Amino acid sequence: MEYKKNDLLTVTIEDMGHDGEGIGKVDGYTVFVKDTVIGDKVQAKIMKAKKNYGYARLVEIMEPSKDRVEPRCAYARQCGGCQIQALSYEKQLAYKQQKIENNLIRIGGFQKEEIPMQPIIGMEDPYHYRNKAQFPVGCDKEGHLIAGFYAGRTHSIISNRKCYLGVEVNEQILNLVLAHMEAYDIPAYDETTGKGLVRHVLIRYGFQSKEIMVCLVVNGSRIPGAEDLIAKLREIPGMTSISLNINREKTNVILGRKGKVLWGQEYITDTIGPIAYQISPQSFYQVNPVQTQKLYEKALEYAGLEGNETVWDLYCGIGTISLFLAQKAKQVYGVEIVPAAIEDAKRNATLNHITNAEFFVGKAEEVLPEKYEKEGIYADVIVVDPPRKGCEESVLATMVKMQPKRIVYVSCDSATLARDLKYLRGEGYEVKKVQGVDQFPHTVHVETVVLLSKDYALEHSGLKVSNLYISQIKRKCGIGGGKNYNLPKSEDSRQPQCPLEKEKAIREAFKYFGIS
Ligand code: SAH
Repeated sequence: MEYKKNDLLTVTIEDMGHDGEGIGKVDGYTVFVKDTVIGDKVQAKIMKAKKNYGYARLVEIMEPSKDRVEPRCAYARQCGGCQIQALSYEKQLAYKQQKIENNLIRIGGFQKEEIPMQPIIGMEDPYHYRNKAQFPVGCDKEGHLIAGFYAGRTHSIISNRKCYLGVEVNEQILNLVLAHMEAYDIPAYDETTGKGLVRHVLIRYGFQSKEIMVCLVVNGSRIPGAEDLIAKLREIPGMTSISLNINREKTNVILGRKGKVLWGQEYITDTIGPIAYQISPQSFYQVNPVQTQKLYEKALEYAGLEGNETVWDLYCGIGTISLFLAQKAKQVYGVEIVPAAIEDAKRNATLNHITNAEFFVGKAEEVLPEKYEKEGIYADVIVVDPPRKGCEESVLATMVKMQPKRIVYVSCDSATLARDLKYLRGEGYEVKKVQGVDQFPHTVHVETVVLLSKDYALEHSGLKVSNLYISQIKRKCGIGGGKNYNLPKSEDSRQPQCPLEKEKAIREAFKYFGIS
């Protein structure tokens, strides 16, 4: 059966896609219906029809799924922030667990039985978890000031000062800022004309420190009646930093480059586990600190550190994972492309009196090969936490050459994770554990931590290690064989020299068999 635009159909939702959209089938024709959940029986209208599938709009829920819940937020459907608030939290977790597993099967080429999935780590209370909010400010049709969130895939603002994912004090701060704008006749910025002053209100909150930061992003360099506004904001317990961020560009990018402190410090401080971090308006910082701690603890557990290890943390951001690892490792090296993040990482290391972490600015795909080829650097454990597009293949190739005992892969996109695991598995790394962590309840996003390891000692034939190489390394280690044992005829002989990665494997094997 084929359908066309504007056709009405009744469909039962059987699955959910990667963006949380419901998926159902009618006579072999697949329909994607946003705002539905598995188990719903709905009436939907085809908006875009292809030969075998189409996208439809929800018209009416005829029989709600038993897993459907009333979203707490009245704007859950329009708002671009949440996608699956209408699904019970328990089922959200099941959906995310399934999403990881499906990608590993479909993209990674794993068999279901081979995937060592651990039960996903969810939140006890999956609300008010975000420590950062950026509210766009604008006007409604009547010209009243509003603040809220962008509707899905658009830049029209839904007026909503009470988001259930953010902290409760956000609403109080927005009320103060908007009342101030009204009192001083301060216009909101208008994206289409490029006129007006206040673009966004950025609020950050330290879950542990209880420190609050308010930063107004303005299309100008000052705010009328600043003293008055400061006086009111300062009354809020925990207020630590009030600043302006200057952004005069006609752009979607929220923050401009320059900041100006109006009152207090430029930054707030917060802790994750035992490590303290200084966070300025510009800093990248994980938005769900409760789950981040669980995620990093897993990464640390998987790294299996005993105190003598050299660890590389690729895509290290402000060094959050690096500093966590540094507690248990001999030495940690972090690599990150954004120079400002590396400055934060270094400052955070100093702040925590951590001296065994060193940071490099650059692309992982350039820094790592360079350090490896030229300086022969070494790693017992490599941790990666790449952006959504995953690791460049050249990074994976260098990692494999470096032959770490363990690789810990932290991922925010299980599709690219699956692709990269397929590569690493092809190079002899075994996937030992796959752990989902729900950092973003009510959205479709899920974080995954994976432990991979390789047992070199049992890999000899696979590595094609020749006897010549073994004897070379034996000599280096001063192990047995007598004087003439496999000795090359002259020391400057043209015999090939054992490459570094094979030397490492052989040394590993010696250790394994207790002959070193
Ligand atoms: N591990 C950090 C941040 C991970 S986010 C934390 O937990 O806080 C991914 C990071 O990778 C970002 O900071 C981004 O700037 C950085 N990045 C993106 N492409 C990169 C590349 N090619 N090489 C190194 N870092 C990169």
